Amino acid sequence: MRYGSGLVWEAHWGRQRQDIGAAVYGAWATMEGIYLRSGSGLVLWHLSGVDSGGNKTDNTVIIMLVPYSSKVPSLTRNLMFRTRGLLTMMSVKRTSLSTNTNTTQRSTNTTSTNTYSTTIPSTNTYSTTTQRSTNTTSTNTYSTTIPSTNTYTNTTQRSTNASNTTYISTNSSTIPSTNTYSTTQRKATKVPHVCIIGSGPAGFYTAQQILKSHPSACVDMYERLPVPFGLVRYGVAPDHPEVKNCINTFTQTARNPRFTFLGNVSVGPDNDSIPLAQLRSAYHAVVMCYGSSRDRTLNIPGECLPNVVSARRLVGWYNGLPEDTDLDVDLGVESVVVVGQGNVAVDVARILLTPVDALRKTDIPEAVLNRLSESRVRRVTLVGRRGPQHAAFTIKELREMINLPGCKPHLNPHHYTHLRDIIPDLPRPRKRLLELLAKTGLDPPNPKLAASYTTAQRTWSLSFLRSPIQVLASEHQGVIGIELAINRLEGEQGRERAVTSTETEVMECGLVLRSIGYQGVSIDPSIPFNDNTGTIQHIDSRVMGMEGMYVSGWIGTGPVGVILSTMTSGFSTGKAVVADMDRGRLDISEDKPGQDYIRDLLAQNGVRAVNFNEWSTLNHHEETEGARLGKPREKVTSISAMLKVMNH
Ligand code: FAD
Repeated sequence: MRYGSGLVWEAHWGRQRQDIGAAVYGAWATMEGIYLRSGSGLVLWHLSGVDSGGNKTDNTVIIMLVPYSSKVPSLTRNLMFRTRGLLTMMSVKRTSLSTNTNTTQRSTNTTSTNTYSTTIPSTNTYSTTTQRSTNTTSTNTYSTTIPSTNTYTNTTQRSTNASNTTYISTNSSTIPSTNTYSTTQRKATKVPHVCIIGSGPAGFYTAQQILKSHPSACVDMYERLPVPFGLVRYGVAPDHPEVKNCINTFTQTARNPRFTFLGNVSVGPDNDSIPLAQLRSAYHAVVMCYGSSRDRTLNIPGECLPNVVSARRLVGWYNGLPEDTDLDVDLGVESVVVVGQGNVAVDVARILLTPVDALRKTDIPEAVLNRLSESRVRRVTLVGRRGPQHAAFTIKELREMINLPGCKPHLNPHHYTHLRDIIPDLPRPRKRLLELLAKTGLDPPNPKLAASYTTAQRTWSLSFLRSPIQVLASEHQGVIGIELAINRLEGEQGRERAVTSTETEVMECGLVLRSIGYQGVSIDPSIPFNDNTGTIQHIDSRVMGMEGMYVSGWIGTGPVGVILSTMTSGFSTGKAVVADMDRGRLDISEDKPGQDYIRDLLAQNGVRAVNFNEWSTLNHHEETEGARLGKPREKVTSISAMLKVMNH
């Protein structure tokens, strides 16, 4: 379709977003590269893409009247728009009024070539060809051609498999006009090499931002597992598949020719890991995005008993995390206590209480489903130190518990009577949560729920103002209960803290799940690490006292927040890295070998990193196996089996 007279942009409604060369990825969108000029100064942006949750946004056209002036080479505008109720602020940067577009041709696996192309007849020309070989058999080519009277060309050829890497970079600019392109404003002609440690949301959103805002930076992502996506694959509840849609965005990033995934490579002090110091010498910038992999402990007697298990490990187990596949958890018990009232606590409670047939359509591994089908769990109680007004779970998770088939809430009305007094003064999300909690605790259920509750075989409940003192065991070391101190609240309203009293109570149970939060660890003694918070110390993503070192995601913020907040963290870090390159705060004048040096080190230890195509092979295998079983995927749960499927 064509819009406007004299406007020379072809928009493709309902077609792949790659076709227009600059889609909206995430809540923050790049507009560079699709700005257009018409004689009248009318500018159209066509937006389609995915939001932060990975949902495809509706096609949107924004029409702006932009006063054309060649004397204003850089114009930054902000515009607000709504996609599916998500208020999004977009920073729109016009660096010049020349037209450009992309023809992208690339090989995404060793044997096939995918071609995305857009051609815009224009009076100006911008052309880029980047050729990069990441291994002996694959070549990715990225090229743009627009017939025009002005020319800008940039050719970068890179071989990363040769022991002596060659970078050939030719820039020729013959633009006899006011046209500018941001690369021409950068002093450095060298390719900045950025390394990212960890392939969860923080790693991918940081990579996305860097690749978007810097025209030539190469990003290499090191991941200790052979598979990418961190907690999106191994943390997010299997019955919440829609949350995992952000993987589509991450895969787009991974397909960028300037991005390399190096899986099965751990960074750290262990013998089989790459030391941080080696990465620092090989890269201009190192971004630590390795999350919070440990769980906090209760430090109470009985915590090491066999059926006292961390919720983190239970989550890993039902999500097929290789290190948790053999988790020793006895589900032949009727009553479970979960210590903690956050969303992870609710996730594990829900999975334990959901009828196994409903879980068969999720990606829970078959071996786990078999164990869950033999589960005798009937009651799950979530214990919290403070009151219902402090519960950390969110409304979606609460609603799911209320509506769980075959299960009913068992709530003590006394806990909820005071809520209706404080609800009016609360901010909206909290207000809605507590309204639902009070309604569930105090009012009779609606007829539909009441009918389903009459036949329910399982129950869940919430216990407030309780702190665990010890886990009680039988003489055979089996868990028989947990002793809890009864707390009172002290402090001003809204900022109360729990103070234990001398009064205690015992809650019978056969399994205790600890769900009191995750914790990060340090991977190198040189890192300024806060042991209390389990985070790396930084100012605005820049690691304190370490030039060229950055953090993003949970290892910087602590294990709080969701993928959306991790996205914000990733984007801020990516911006900080590029800003430092642009402003000379990060020295990129010296050549750095990047992954070639690290690959040599790995080769010396007989290790070859897993690449993204190999992950795609495993992904395809898992999806195919899953389709056979009527589920999204059947995960491969051992590292050796993964490598075998990948023909690694
Ligand atoms: P991670 O996702 O943990 O990624 C870190 C990556 O680094 C991992 O791949 C890890 O293997 C790798 N790594 C670790 N150490 C090393 C090393 N030494 N060398 C190389 N690589 C390393 N958010 C939502 O929005 N919706 C949800 O439904 C949701 N459910 C959740 C359920 C659970 C159980 C948990 C724990 C979190 C959930 N979250 C959810 C939050 C979300 O998962 C986090 O916000 C997000 O994953 C944090 O991203 P990250 O990249 O910082 O860490």
